[in-house]
Amino acid sequence: MTQRRPLVAANWKMNGSLASIRPLLKGICSGLQAKCDAEVVICPPYVYLAELTDKLGNSGIISGAQNLSHLESGAFTGEISADMLKDFSCKYVIVGHSERRALYGETDGLVAAKFMRGQDAALVPILCVGEQLAERESGDTEVVIERQLNAVIELAGIKAFNDAVIAYEPVWAIGTGETATPDQAQEVHAFVRLLLARHDDAVADKIRILYGGSVKAANAVEIFNMVDVDGGLIGGAALDADEFLSICHAARGS
Ligand code: PEP
Repeated sequence: MTQRRPLVAANWKMNGSLASIRPLLKGICSGLQAKCDAEVVICPPYVYLAELTDKLGNSGIISGAQNLSHLESGAFTGEISADMLKDFSCKYVIVGHSERRALYGETDGLVAAKFMRGQDAALVPILCVGEQLAERESGDTEVVIERQLNAVIELAGIKAFNDAVIAYEPVWAIGTGETATPDQAQEVHAFVRLLLARHDDAVADKIRILYGGSVKAANAVEIFNMVDVDGGLIGGAALDADEFLSICHAARGS
């Protein structure tokens, strides 16, 4: 089995101000111990990417973005291109976050196009998948995950997942304080890996699958201990330096 280095990514969403992110970044950078096994990524609002790049220095923390345009450039008011993100040293980009899907009408097809655009510009997509509460309750979790993943596999091909990360984020657990149990998370993570393995065993074995949904210092260890969980995508808890640092240190290499 491939050794997968855990990854912990902060999704700050539309939170913060220059005044609040400066001490937050300082706290995270100074508290991240060298023995932290995880690769640590921070995805701030776009306008703070320059500040992030400046302040991260040689902390080892990597910059990411929360979204990108599926188009290269042109008359698309308000959009941000993959190349612009590269200009600010971004390595990762979140695509298909459930808030983008639900609030901004991003379809599976558009998410797949964003995934490809990111990769074409040498960004590593963090592809979010996850079911709504009603879908879980009607027993459709796997159908939803399969549909969301297949849209990307069909457009980008299975080999594209060699340079990607998947985040399983049950929508009912995001920002609600309700977390999937470690067993619930493991079950879906194993299913995601199985789905990929139907196309390519090596890709399935190598890919990192993060869990996201109300992860905090108090529950990170038990979730990250599951065999197919390779770290987390962290929302609310990433806005508190101590909380985020505990989560980063809870992610252990296998
Ligand atoms: C997220 O938005 O990706 C997320 C996981 O948020 P939270 O940790 O706040 O549930």
